[in-house]
Amino acid sequence: MNSEELFNESKKYLPGGVDSPIRAYYPYPFFTSKGEGSKIFDEDGNVYTDYCLGYGPAILGHGHETIIKSIGEQIAIGTTYGTPTEKEIELAKMVIERTPCVEMIRFVNSGTEATMSAIRLARGFTGKNKIVKFEGAYHGCHDYVLIKSGSGGAGRPDSLGIPEDTSKNTLSIPFNNEEALNILIDKHKDEIATIIVEPVMGNIGCLEPKNGFLKLLRNITKENDILLIFDEVITGFRLSYGSAQEYFNVVPDLVTFGKILGGGFPIGAFGGRKDIMDLIAPSGGVYQAGTFNGNPISITGGITTLNELNKSFYTTLNGKGDFLRGQIANSIEDLSLDLNLVGLTSMFQIYFRGGEILDYEGVKKSDIEKFYLYFKTLLKKGVFIPPSQFECCFISNAHTNEDLEKTGNIIHNAFKEIFK
Ligand SMILES: *Cc1c(COP(=O)(O)O)cnc(C)c1O
Repeated sequence: MNSEELFNESKKYLPGGVDSPIRAYYPYPFFTSKGEGSKIFDEDGNVYTDYCLGYGPAILGHGHETIIKSIGEQIAIGTTYGTPTEKEIELAKMVIERTPCVEMIRFVNSGTEATMSAIRLARGFTGKNKIVKFEGAYHGCHDYVLIKSGSGGAGRPDSLGIPEDTSKNTLSIPFNNEEALNILIDKHKDEIATIIVEPVMGNIGCLEPKNGFLKLLRNITKENDILLIFDEVITGFRLSYGSAQEYFNVVPDLVTFGKILGGGFPIGAFGGRKDIMDLIAPSGGVYQAGTFNGNPISITGGITTLNELNKSFYTTLNGKGDFLRGQIANSIEDLSLDLNLVGLTSMFQIYFRGGEILDYEGVKKSDIEKFYLYFKTLLKKGVFIPPSQFECCFISNAHTNEDLEKTGNIIHNAFKEIFK
């Protein structure tokens, strides 16, 4: 069957034909048959240079040799035991060595579980109930974080099925907005357990913190007995050797990881200061558990991946990011387009609007229809990016200079076609 037929078939059995909403786009998504390095192949005989990379995890590209080997060896001796293994200590030590804020860590199965557990831990530690997130930030799909903007007040849920009693505990404010932050903290500081933030907002494109905003968050939380959580599910092991907290030189109390950490296998993790982490069961009273926690396959994927991600890896990878962004910037200038190219290291996005963008409201003013046209045009020419203005594009070390140069040309031609 081709992708269209598969989608029609899939819709009979899976809600909306997919297992995660972003995967369904009009008129039907391509179905993947395999991946190889920087490329993925669909069921219709097309091949794409992949800048989605599973929404971030595949930093080594698809089908990486050392991962195939190490995972094969682990599978042969078992895929889950329900007992501790030495490999969990090994990966824990690797993360602790790299990450400024992490003294202890708990491995779970997804980014959603990681933020859910870190938030519970922050509540348990501070004895307070409310949490603060930023408008447009995505921290997974559990009840406390699926909350829309509430202009400094309690948010409205983004989904049916979330009780108001839950959502009233989540406050949200615009990113990069010092004034809104000060007002909120003044009013609610005695109730706020934690501020959770994506250091670079990767779920509304690729939005960087304004100079000093993360430092401001660090100071204001410290002064008010509030824990600061960096949600590094995207930025973790992506922005640098020591993740965003090293890149921006701001050390949070807790961090959440996912995506890259599993080397392509399901994983999540949260970690931080020992005195806080000691509160997690069984050493403390904040409950957290999981049948597949510390799963040997995911842990092996993580160890193998982090072994590849040494400091020089990032120099090379970030060079690829600079190269592609440079090409896109030249195109935008040559064609005098009113577009906003954003990104850093191996992340990038193009906002289909001009001018500076600071927050979610700013991103929402982008021309979504033009973006979709751009997405479809790239797809036709063999370049796959996430099908939304609100997602981020990623580069892997499997992307060759030739890949990037070709992609630069394809984007240039797509611009010419869209803006003719
Ligand atoms: C993807 C993501 C999550 C959720 O992770 P899952 O593994 O999909 O549950 C949480 N936070 C951020 C910043 C993410 O990008």
